[in-house]
Amino acid sequence: MTPNPRAESSYLLKPNLSTNYPVVDRGEGPYLFDTAGRRYFDGSSGAMTANLGHGLKEIADQMAAQASTVAFTFRNQFSNVAAEELARKLCQLAPGDLDRAFFVNSGSEASEYAIRMSIHYWKERGQPNKTKILGRLTSYHGMTMGALSISGHAGRRPDYGPLLHDFASVPPAYCYRCPFGLEPDGCATECADAWETAIAAHGANNVAAVIAEPIVGAAGGVLVPPPGYFRRLREICDRHDILLIADEVITGIGRTGTWFASATEGIVPDLLLLAKGMSAGYTPMAAVLVGQRIVDVIAQGSGSVPFGHTFSANPLSASICASVIDYIEHNDVLDNVNARGAELRDGLAALSQRHACMVDVRGRGLLWGFELVRDRASRRPFDAALNAARKLVAACLDHGLVVYPAGIAPLNNAIIVAPPLIVTTEQVGELLAKLGAALRDFEAGIA
Ligand code: PLP
Repeated sequence: MTPNPRAESSYLLKPNLSTNYPVVDRGEGPYLFDTAGRRYFDGSSGAMTANLGHGLKEIADQMAAQASTVAFTFRNQFSNVAAEELARKLCQLAPGDLDRAFFVNSGSEASEYAIRMSIHYWKERGQPNKTKILGRLTSYHGMTMGALSISGHAGRRPDYGPLLHDFASVPPAYCYRCPFGLEPDGCATECADAWETAIAAHGANNVAAVIAEPIVGAAGGVLVPPPGYFRRLREICDRHDILLIADEVITGIGRTGTWFASATEGIVPDLLLLAKGMSAGYTPMAAVLVGQRIVDVIAQGSGSVPFGHTFSANPLSASICASVIDYIEHNDVLDNVNARGAELRDGLAALSQRHACMVDVRGRGLLWGFELVRDRASRRPFDAALNAARKLVAACLDHGLVVYPAGIAPLNNAIIVAPPLIVTTEQVGELLAKLGAALRDFEAGIA
């Protein structure tokens, strides 16, 4: 056989065809190692996913045990012990009557399932016109066409013609650059009332659900809503007979210091999406938690939820996710998130004092973001052409630190810092030292 010349480089299709990505061959705790022998501090847990760090023996052992017991059953033929157990654990931890769980393979699929479930629910209630799912201008709910249609991440929404809807139109809860021109002390949560305006524009009779991340991740660079925002949104949804979908793909399972950020916000959503931290990156797995009141309507109607995937609720992934929850419970991980999160917050605030370009340190638990500005006093951002966030990410990488570029397109001027939830005080210090060195390089480079 004649060898294919391409085999000398790489067969793997990567996001940027002209970039040579480091090739990782090992991970341990918050560190990744590449084939050239370099060590990286995983300061964003990849994409806020590797929440327990890399190479955990407890999870690997569980994986092997389940794989040799039963790795696959098909959801239309069988349930299985591992998926039943995971559903039980999640529903017991979740707020309110989120008493049913459906499993899919990615956050995007969780969004798709929630879209279908919302529309299905209203059909069962005799309201087939309720088919719109409203979202926010700064939001990200996934790459598949339905999920992207409800996402407001301009940078990830190229023109896909009629396949993509424009359902994300609600202004963000973005206090540093408030779309209503307000400062926190003069704010009456106008950004929450904006949902009601959007609902009126579309007609409540046409709206099945609204979707929102309790804390916006990639699309905004960690946007924490003002107090009371989600309670107000819950009231608006109830008043207009509209379901509330909480996208906890990033915030769920401990990232913000509690099991669910919805609980911290004081609400029970009708549907709640989980992915990323639910498996801590040890397997592709996601979930939609569904309110019992929704299931009751379907049970009294058609009795059928006719959507899912081949790998939904596969026992291998389910047992891995259950062992992630066990690990968090038995190793006081939530306490660690709160304690290390406070250290990280203070350290980032101190860096912000030293570096004029670094502003608006914002977040909760171990999910932190900040913005990069050309001028602190006027909040003038860097020109979009500079791609400030990517420049700082590159400077961090030179110091062996991985952080996540984010922010609102076209500025893309925010950074997410979200290390694994098991970091130690010493490792938080290491992360901050590397970030400080990268900020010095960044400032020298743009001066
Ligand atoms: N929802 C949120 C809040 C996300 O951050 C993401 C991914 O970054 C998704 C949904 C989509 O998840 P996935 O990439 O697993 O499809």
